[in-house]
Amino acid sequence: MRAPLHAAGLAAILGALALVPLLPINDFYLQILFTIGVNYLAAAGLNVLVGFAGQKSLGHAGLFAVGAYAAALANVDFGLPPWLSLVLAAAMGGLFGLVIAAPSVRVSGPSLAMVTIGFGIVVEKIVTEWTDLFKGQAGIYGIAAPSVMGKSFTNLHWVLFVGLLCVLTHLVLRSLLNGRYGRAFMAVQLAEPAAESVGISVVRAKTLAFVISAVTCALAGALVAQQNQYFNSDFITFNLSIFLLVVVIFGGSGSLYGPLFGSVILTLLDAWLARWPALQHFTYGALLLFALYLMPNGIAGALARLAPRSGGPMRPAITASAALSRGQTGTSAGGGPLLAVSGLYKAYGGIIPVKDVSFTISPGKVHALIGPNGAGKTTLINLISGHVPPDRGHILFAGAEIARMPAHRIAASGIARTFQNLKLFGHLSALDNVLIGAHLHVETGLGAALTGLPANRRAEAEAREEALALLSELGLGERAGDAASALPYGLQRRLEIARALATRPRLLLLDEPAAGLNPQETHELGAVIRRIQAAGITILLIEHHMDLVMGISDHVIVLDYGEKIAEGTPETIRRNPKVVAAYLGLEEGA
Ligand code: ATP
Repeated sequence: MRAPLHAAGLAAILGALALVPLLPINDFYLQILFTIGVNYLAAAGLNVLVGFAGQKSLGHAGLFAVGAYAAALANVDFGLPPWLSLVLAAAMGGLFGLVIAAPSVRVSGPSLAMVTIGFGIVVEKIVTEWTDLFKGQAGIYGIAAPSVMGKSFTNLHWVLFVGLLCVLTHLVLRSLLNGRYGRAFMAVQLAEPAAESVGISVVRAKTLAFVISAVTCALAGALVAQQNQYFNSDFITFNLSIFLLVVVIFGGSGSLYGPLFGSVILTLLDAWLARWPALQHFTYGALLLFALYLMPNGIAGALARLAPRSGGPMRPAITASAALSRGQTGTSAGGGPLLAVSGLYKAYGGIIPVKDVSFTISPGKVHALIGPNGAGKTTLINLISGHVPPDRGHILFAGAEIARMPAHRIAASGIARTFQNLKLFGHLSALDNVLIGAHLHVETGLGAALTGLPANRRAEAEAREEALALLSELGLGERAGDAASALPYGLQRRLEIARALATRPRLLLLDEPAAGLNPQETHELGAVIRRIQAAGITILLIEHHMDLVMGISDHVIVLDYGEKIAEGTPETIRRNPKVVAAYLGLEEGA
C-alpha cells in the first residue's frame, strides 16, 4: 500500500480506537474487539512465517500455550509482576520459536507441517497431563492483569492496549517486510538455491521467521491468559492452530494487511457461530477450501487486484558504469589466479561428472567452460558456487579455501552465478529481483529494519538506485516494475545476470546465458559480457554457442566425461584434435 493510503488507514484505526471510550459499547462487544486484536497479533507473526518465508505451520496453538502458561506461571507461581510476565512470555515464545525452527532446516512442505503438528500435540499433552505444574483442565486461577498507576485493566483498557500493540506490531513488521528481510523471506520461499546464490542464509531467514511468528503468538496467548485471569488446557486445541492458519490464508497470506482482514472477519464470524459450535469447524474448513481454490491470495489479494497499478519506467539516479564498478575488481591476492581449482572430484553413484579437474582462472578475463552435453560443466559450476559439495579436491578463491563452504558464504566472498534453468523470483518485479541480489549490500541490521530508522531508509534508497542502474545497463530499465515471469525469455536471462551483478561479484559464473536466445539477442549478450568484463569483473561462462565463446573468451577449458581434456586460447582449442573428436563423438585419431 502506498504511503499516503497507509497513513490514512493508520489514522482511521487510531481514530476508531480513540472513539471506543466515548461509545456505549458493552462488555460483550469489548470482548470481541479484544479478541480481534489478539487474533491479529498471532496471525501477523504467522503471516511472516507462512506468507513471506513459505513455511507452513499447523502447531502455533503450542506457541500460544507457551506464552499463556509462561505469563500465568511467572505471575502465580513465581510472583513476578504482570508487565514483566508479559515480556517473559514473549521471550519464551522466541526461545520455542528457535526450537521448532530447527527441523525446518531439514524438512519442508508437508513434512514440516507434520513436525509442527507434532509440536502442537506434544505441548497439548504436556499441559493436560502434567497437572502438578499446569493444572490441566482445572486451570490456573488468579493470573494478575497489568495495571497502570495502581489501577487494574478494565475491558476497555484491554481493548485500547491490545489495539495499540496491534498498530505497533503492524508498523514494525511493515518496516521489516518492506526491506531486505522481507525480500529475503520471499526469496527463500520462491527459490532457495537462488536465494543462497545472492548470499541469503536460508537457515537464518527461516529461523528469524519462526522466531517472529512465535513471539507474536506467545504474546497473544499471554494477553488472553492475563485478560481472563485464568487459563486451562482447553484453550490449546488443534482447532486453534487451524483457526490461526485460516485467518492468515483467508485474509491474504504474504500481504501485510491479510491478517487484519482475516482477524476481523473470522473473529466476527466465530462470535456469531458460537451458538452452533458444530458449524464453526465446518465453516473454517469451507473457508479454507474457498480461499485455496477461488481466492488463493485471500481478501487482501482480491482487493489489491482492484487497486490501480503504479507503473511506468523508473529512472536511476546513478549511471550503469558506476553501479557496475561498485563491485570489487578482479584482482587476486598477491597477483596470482583469482580462482584455483585442483583435483576436484564429484561422483553420483557410478556417474562421475567431475573427475579430478584442475584449472586456474585469471582475474579480469573471460574464461569459457565448454564440452558436450553431460560433460559435467554445470556440476563444476555447482561445486564452485557451493550448491553441491565436492567429494574431494580444493577450490581456492583469492587465496582462500572455499570448497565445502555454504553457498551463501561463497556468494558473500564475491562469487555470483546464474542458472541454466532460470531461477527467478517469478511473481516479484524485475526491480525486486535485483534488490534481492543486493541483499548483502543493503547495510541495515535487524534493529534498524524493525524500527525503520532513517539509516535503514537511506540504505534501501541507495540499493534501489543501484538496482535501477543495473537494470538499465541490461536493457531492462523500462521493465523494472514488471513481474519477472511476465518478461520475454531473453530479458529473463538478462535479469538473472542483473541480479547476480547486484551482489557486486569479483567472479561471475554464467551457466548457458545464451540458451534459448535468438542470434540478435546472443550478439547483444556478447556485448553485455564485454561491458561486465570492462568493469573489472572476471567471468567463467558455460556456453554451447561456439560463435559467442570464440568471440569473447580469453581462455577456454574443455570438459568431456567429467575430465578436462584441453585448455588454451580459443584458436588453439578450435584446432585441438581431442576437442574436435569429443564434439563429433569420435575416438581420438579417427
Ligand atoms: P549440459 O551441457 O547438457 O547442461 P553438463 O555438461 O552441464 O550438461 P551436468 O549437468 O553437470 O553436465 O551433468 C553431468 C552428468 O552428471 C550427467 O550425466 C548428469 O545426469 C549427472 N548428474 C548431474 N547432477 C546429478 C545428480 N544430482 N544426481 C545424479 N546425477 C547427476
